[in-house]
Amino acid sequence: MGSAKRITPAKIASAIALAWLASSFLYPIYVEVGGSVVKLNGSPELYLIPAFAVWRLRTERDAYQRLRVKVMVGLFFLYWVFIPIFYPRMPLLDGTEAEFTLAVHMVGALPFLILFIMVALVGKRADCGWNCPCVFSRETVGFAFRDATLKGDFWWRWRHLKWLPFAVVWAYFVYMLVDPVHAYERFGRTMYDLILIGYYASFLIIPFTGHRSFCRWACPWAATWGVLNVAGFYKIKADVGRCRECGLCEQNCDMGVPVRRLIREKGVLRTTECMGCGRCVNVCPQGVLSIHDIRDTIRGYNLGSRERLVRMAGGLTVAGLIFLDPGAPWGYLGLAFFATGLFGFCPTYLAVGVVARKARGIFFRQ
Ligand code: SF4
Ligand code: SF4
Ligand code: SF4
Repeated sequence: MGSAKRITPAKIASAIALAWLASSFLYPIYVEVGGSVVKLNGSPELYLIPAFAVWRLRTERDAYQRLRVKVMVGLFFLYWVFIPIFYPRMPLLDGTEAEFTLAVHMVGALPFLILFIMVALVGKRADCGWNCPCVFSRETVGFAFRDATLKGDFWWRWRHLKWLPFAVVWAYFVYMLVDPVHAYERFGRTMYDLILIGYYASFLIIPFTGHRSFCRWACPWAATWGVLNVAGFYKIKADVGRCRECGLCEQNCDMGVPVRRLIREKGVLRTTECMGCGRCVNVCPQGVLSIHDIRDTIRGYNLGSRERLVRMAGGLTVAGLIFLDPGAPWGYLGLAFFATGLFGFCPTYLAVGVVARKARGIFFRQ
């Protein structure tokens, strides 16, 4: 990898779709239909992501990556369709509100706090590998340009660029705490506008840099989650003695992580860059690598690893309803669901026994 190898129909379709995605923010097109003005390129994610996800599922040979695409599509509908129907706007710390899909990544918003906790527990894959509205687009619409991913020592150094937007976003957070009344008007609006311009413009460079270049170099949350990736429970352990130095792991890393060198030097992979896609782990012919997180610290009792992750992520998301609607039971149920995932123990399975075990076998085959 390193430059786009050849032009394929998928790449042509992807390039057109990426330009359309970028135009939805950078160059909105309005038309008049039946006397009303309609934005022709409004929310193209709603049809482009599912369409390219179908292509991904038909062409992806790695079962784990197919699972990843399915999870992304499910979460896409949860975030872009279902939750916005019930909670279209989220309150922020400074008293303002934002659309749910934007609030996911706005400092001082409830969904952001939830993601913060999840990333500390299971690493950046709680967002960047499986769950970010951005990753949905890049891993489906932009995926055809995976082979354009820029790798090697030179491009690896570029990862430090993202500390600049990181500093700006967290300076804004401090401003919010000190002067919540004026922070958004004086700082936040311009900052978020610039981030959104960068975000949408980055779709245009995907054919030349690979689909995750914004995540590698320019995203403020890549840096924020990156700190938690290193400081939290997530890591990729390596049985270095079994490594044959074949390099397949780093050839397959879309974040340009020099996996082979890092595990040789440190015996473990703890980097701000790893977004937890699991490609390096699954491609290694020697079984050298394995992912570890909070679930390996707190031993499970009657729940499998994948089920614990689903319960933690889903439960914490629903638990956020406690803040939005304290009188309703759903948030507390979400909290209980999160706790079952965290501790790996579900009392219902013990109580209901055979039926529950059967259902679990269908949905969470290990
Ligand atoms: S790095 Fe930023 S844009 Fe990329 S997936 Fe993570 S949060 Fe989303
Ligand atoms: S793929 Fe496995 S054996 Fe090959 S370099 Fe990476 S860790 Fe070593
Ligand atoms: S280091 Fe491995 S798990 Fe992390 S992003 Fe690269 S391929 Fe994915």
